Amino acid sequence: MKFDSVIVGGGLAGLVCGIRLARAGRRCAIVSSGQSALHFSSGSFDLLNALPDGTAVTNPVEAVAETIRQVPEHPYARIGAERFATLADEAAALLSETGVATEGAATRNHYRVTPMGELKPTWLTLKGYVYSADAATLSWRNVALFNAEGFLDFYTKFLADGFQRMGVACEVHTFNLPAIETIRKNPSEMRSANIARVFDREENLQALAEILRRETGTCEAVLLPAVLGIDRYDAVERLSEALGRPVAVVATLPPSVPGIQTQIRLRRCFQQAGGTYMLGDTAVRCEMQGDRIAALYTNNHGDIAFEAKDYILATGSYFSQGLVASMEGVCEPLFGLDVACAADRGAWYDRDLFAAQPFETFGVRTDDALHGLREGRPVENLRVIGAGLAGFNPVKEGCGAGVSMLTALEAARRILEK
Ligand SMILES: Cc1cc2nc3c(=O)[nH]c(=O)nc-3n(C[C@H](O)[C@H](O)[C@H](O)COP(=O)(O)OP(=O)(O)OC[C@H]3O[C@@H](n4cnc5c(N)ncnc54)[C@H](O)[C@@H]3O)c2cc1C
Repeated sequence: MKFDSVIVGGGLAGLVCGIRLARAGRRCAIVSSGQSALHFSSGSFDLLNALPDGTAVTNPVEAVAETIRQVPEHPYARIGAERFATLADEAAALLSETGVATEGAATRNHYRVTPMGELKPTWLTLKGYVYSADAATLSWRNVALFNAEGFLDFYTKFLADGFQRMGVACEVHTFNLPAIETIRKNPSEMRSANIARVFDREENLQALAEILRRETGTCEAVLLPAVLGIDRYDAVERLSEALGRPVAVVATLPPSVPGIQTQIRLRRCFQQAGGTYMLGDTAVRCEMQGDRIAALYTNNHGDIAFEAKDYILATGSYFSQGLVASMEGVCEPLFGLDVACAADRGAWYDRDLFAAQPFETFGVRTDDALHGLREGRPVENLRVIGAGLAGFNPVKEGCGAGVSMLTALEAARRILEK
């Protein structure tokens, strides 16, 4: 099978890169084993919340040069401080073009509400989700918070306490619908994605609007768990119109409905641009010719080779098995690329669970043009993007989605420029 580009990994990085290449007319395939980190997403995309030394960041565009100064092997160094703002805007525009509507700007972080009722900085938040420009409070003085009866992945008590700390009075209510009764019969089915499917049906959304209208009293805004449809995007707007006041949703514990929706939309956009998406297939080995990849083989296609001018590795980090840790070290299992990793196992982690963990910064080494390195030499037709890259800590620096999307766009730019 011949393509211009073969991307291994169909999460945020692989899809963004694939969309950019396919829209530019490249014959492009994505091979992806399964679920990505998007299925656990908060509904917000982080760009840069803190410098590597821990200093809080309010303006990522201004702070990126200092990030690169502190960690010269940071993925943002491959992009360069000058191009960072342009690529961040391109990433936000690409999301919007695919129907993933967000709010936020790369020049000023805002604050999302976590499922535990805390405010955390971020770059872009999906439209319809609760967020604040302010680090300490919301824009409402009193809210009504609803949960589906028996839904355990949404902790109204934590949220109400959190809102109270922010000076926002919060009344907690539950709602019930016959369609939810059906899934409640089996407690393991009572998960966010299943409840969301209930609200894909118009009559169920209308029934919910009726309950909310009856019970919301005089509160300024109505808040709900993010379970209002998997394949519809108008639910929050429709409920706001029906109630005549703001309605917004708060992310639940995984599975993440906003992340699944984002994945669906990006994948659809990639396929509409002519891309081939092979879900449930795993790339298992490659053939090398000197410093180039000659062919790639997958589980499902056996001896049928994937041949391409360019290959892109977007297999993520430990979570997606793009990196594998063993007693001997951390490896990149597909191409055997060089991995930045402390030789002494004792230096992999900090015994303080909440400290920055060194293993988070381990990852695939690349040159400045994002070519993966094998025994110190660049693989000429392979770029590495996304969570598997070395040199950053997505948890402490709050830059996970930014690294994935910006390196994806940068790799696509370099491939198209060639
Ligand atoms: C649980 C979790 C939650 C997160 N939440 C957020 C958040 O809310 N906001 C934020 O900004 N960042 C978040 N992040 C950071 C996250 O890493 C990035 O935001 C981003 O989604 C990562 O995308 P990616 O495409 O680089 O990697 P991944 O999403 O990990 O995707 C890698 C893909 O490659 C596939 N794959 C792996 N090996 C192979 C193979 N051999 N063959 C074929 N396919 C393969 C996997 O199945 C997977 O689909 C989160 C990370 C985790 C782990």
